[in-house]
Amino acid sequence: MKFTGFRVLREGLTGNKGWTPHWRDPEPKSEYDIVIIGGGGHGLSTAYYLAKNHGLTNIAVLEKGYLGGGNVGRNTTIVRANYGMEGNSEFYSHSLKLWEGLEQDLNYNAMMSQRGVINLFHSDGQRDAFARRGNQMLSQGDDAELLDREGVRHLLPYLDFDNVRFPIYGGLLHRRGGTARHDAVAWGFARGADQRGVDLIQQCEVTGIDIENGKVRGVQTTRGAIRAKKVGIVVAGRSGQVAAMAGMRLPIESHVLQAFVTEGLKPVIDHVVSFGMGHFYISQSDKGGLVFGGDLDFYASYAQRGNMPMMEHVMEAGMTLMPMIGKAKVLRSWGGIMDMTPDGSPIIDKTDTEGLFIDCGWCYGGFKAVPASGFAFAHLMAQDRPHDTAKRFRLDRFATGHGLMDEEGTGAQHNLH
Ligand SMILES: Cc1cc2nc3c(=O)[nH]c(=O)nc-3n(C[C@H](O)[C@H](O)[C@H](O)COP(=O)(O)OP(=O)(O)OC[C@H]3O[C@@H](n4cnc5c(N)ncnc54)[C@H](O)[C@@H]3O)c2cc1C
Repeated sequence: MKFTGFRVLREGLTGNKGWTPHWRDPEPKSEYDIVIIGGGGHGLSTAYYLAKNHGLTNIAVLEKGYLGGGNVGRNTTIVRANYGMEGNSEFYSHSLKLWEGLEQDLNYNAMMSQRGVINLFHSDGQRDAFARRGNQMLSQGDDAELLDREGVRHLLPYLDFDNVRFPIYGGLLHRRGGTARHDAVAWGFARGADQRGVDLIQQCEVTGIDIENGKVRGVQTTRGAIRAKKVGIVVAGRSGQVAAMAGMRLPIESHVLQAFVTEGLKPVIDHVVSFGMGHFYISQSDKGGLVFGGDLDFYASYAQRGNMPMMEHVMEAGMTLMPMIGKAKVLRSWGGIMDMTPDGSPIIDKTDTEGLFIDCGWCYGGFKAVPASGFAFAHLMAQDRPHDTAKRFRLDRFATGHGLMDEEGTGAQHNLH
């Protein structure tokens, strides 16, 4: 089924009876060339690019729940390429380029909206840091503009500029950044993978990884054993638990990150705005809800829900920045499980077990990485060598200390910011 304007018109006029399911619901086969554990954004994009770029289609994606029910459907949908460090900057730059062509590539409306991301700064020191960041982005070939206070006021007149604890000095504007509809991204990749012959198997939890003589042989699941020549672990917040099935202890802690949405309002916030002093960021969804979030909950947890103290902290920060939002009613809040690495940067690598690969450590920023991560992980799994854009994401950097990418400059306590 291909989506076209003509098709939408025809279906609209004929009672929408011609649409078919986006993907099949196959029974698992007893053997595949490649098994991907995890049907989130990264697992689905990996399967898609394995099929599209490498012609490999005897693949199963095994998902313990339903496709897109994890973090890929729980995030605040921000897409940007404003990373500064070598290793991250070229990777996220590549990802944004893939985002820009994604809807055509997938023939699917992911509601990509390049509305601009503005990071506010509130001190001279922060201005210097953002000027440096902007230069790094420009030298990477991405866009960045340093705004002064009046420049910010012009774009975001609803912020509180007077009598505030942290006065706004300016902001770094990244025009090509924005948002995309998170679950449509999962559905688009799922549909594209299915169309190329990949089996997407839901309600199929992996409970064990079979290894013989240092080689992966397959997985045990709640729907029986499945043999495989190669296995990729792509389970975000559950990475530590699934890697333990292969005897691995990862340098990862899982923490909850919450988000919030208000009732639908008329358009009021045109950009993604990030408050540099208060761990608060906000955008407005296409349905009109204000979508916002803040810090991690500060203790490790596998619970997919948040806690009251962080809710209060986020609301306070929002009120400090734009008191007007105090009038909006919060409709929902939710949480996802973040796979936090010590340096805040991800892992895309082989493991010591032949045929077993891992893609994890996306912390609280892995949505924007979905296209490039799948692209690079597929390359690694198909060709047995890292893609150029992801060659720094090595697992052994945490054992050797070489090649760490401490993007936030928070040292070994990244999980605590
Ligand atoms: C509140 C919140 C806000 C965020 N905001 C942003 C943002 O604005 N921008 C951004 O870039 N990132 C953001 N993120 C981070 C981003 O969502 C994650 O980094 C990214 O989605 C993680 O990768 P994924 O999509 O593959 O994970 P998931 O969707 O969690 O996929 C992993 C899948 O593995 C499955 N699984 C786990 N164990 C097993 C098993 N044993 N067997 C089979 N399947 C298994 C899970 O059910 C899950 O579906 C946010 C996250 C949260 C929670």
